Amino acid sequence: MPAGPSPTGSDDRAIQRRRVLAASAGALAGIAGCSTLGAETPATAETASGSPTPDGAATATPDRPTESRAGRDEGTATPRDLRTALAAGDVVAVLRPPAGQEELAASDLVDTDACGGERTLSSGGRADARAVGTAFAALDAPVEQVVATANCPARETAWLAFGAHSVADDLAEPLAQPPGEGAVRVVVAPGERLAGQLPEPLAAGTCAVLSPGEDGPELVGSEDPRSWADGATPPPLRRSRYDIRAGTPEATSVFRRRSSTDGPRVLVLGGIHGDEVAGYRAVEAASTWSVEAGTLVLVPRASEQTIARDRRTDRAGRDLNRQFPLDREPRTALARELYNVVVRHDPDLVLDMHSSQGVWNEGGFGQAVFHSGDPALAATLERVVEEVNESVVPPSRQPDYRYEAVESDGSPPGMLATKVAEELGVPAALHEVTEEVPLETQVEWSTAVLARVLEARGVSLDTGG
Ligand SMILES: [Zn+2]
Repeated sequence: MPAGPSPTGSDDRAIQRRRVLAASAGALAGIAGCSTLGAETPATAETASGSPTPDGAATATPDRPTESRAGRDEGTATPRDLRTALAAGDVVAVLRPPAGQEELAASDLVDTDACGGERTLSSGGRADARAVGTAFAALDAPVEQVVATANCPARETAWLAFGAHSVADDLAEPLAQPPGEGAVRVVVAPGERLAGQLPEPLAAGTCAVLSPGEDGPELVGSEDPRSWADGATPPPLRRSRYDIRAGTPEATSVFRRRSSTDGPRVLVLGGIHGDEVAGYRAVEAASTWSVEAGTLVLVPRASEQTIARDRRTDRAGRDLNRQFPLDREPRTALARELYNVVVRHDPDLVLDMHSSQGVWNEGGFGQAVFHSGDPALAATLERVVEEVNESVVPPSRQPDYRYEAVESDGSPPGMLATKVAEELGVPAALHEVTEEVPLETQVEWSTAVLARVLEARGVSLDTGG
């Protein structure tokens, strides 16, 4: 493809070698907005980041939408119906923060602006809030939007359970408006703000599920989410899609392709740099593949704004792959939401697809797959590049365009793959194809590498030949 405007081209090479700090309390505190995580013990923080494994819940009996619909119409939904409705989407989940609030010393607050002298969740309440997040993940509820009131326990609960959220004073719209097709909106609010807004009072720590309708929201049921993680849950949907940054020029879709056969979860991003076309074309191609084992989560066009501009940076001149500092919250709204996508899906591997004007070690970064140093991933990538050199890159293009696997050295700072590896302990790799070959060739090679890495890691695919 034509050279991009940035002389730095593709210096994404560096995924800093992963330290074994996997979500220390400090790392978590860095991304916490309104919370007291700085005061947490590491053991508790570990629990928070040791995200649930939604696939582990995929052992239940088949879905029965008809039955659940009937229960819903009579307003006598059983808990099972509530869970089915949540997993299917098109509902609003209303959550009241868990009980257990305490006065907090200013010194305990990570961000004194956020909670000021307000009461906040007790450590037990924080553990309960995390358990709520685990419960939603176990159901695989397609949570697309989280709204909290300005009340500190509500915001804390929203953050600990779901990550990024918006704050709203008026709950009328969030409670009544449909959440978007196949999506779930979560509204977190204290009891006094919910009084009179729900058909029946909600106990602390309990979740009510509302189905928006023309005559106002209808109550599907209410239940303590912490019970969802035990026992039977509805089988997760095999295919789903939701948007992040909805309603903004950065709106983009996240696709999930899941097999009923267990296997690893791999998350793949393209289009972090809008002028690197092969990256997003390859991930778009992957969205048509059918997954025969494991789960594939795809963000084909991570930065729609830079794709529209065909540039590396957004209108404000920001390079998205420099917005993920360590031990701090991602710097932009888009970066925060992308990071939350990673947290939410709890992948076993993250792949980020790019292209470069040159070739690695000769002034560019092309034809290299940079990785975070995880030994198993390094071995996989060595095998994959060997295979691709053998059967994809034609002999006439070698040795110039032979692929290699390279352990990242940690610069430049701010890359998503680095943060994911360092703070979530998730092995990550960044693929760079050279732009010295025609675009169609770049796409072919990128797609070949992607498919082979997925297969090598145990995500079986039918790529349609
Ligand atoms: Zn790039």
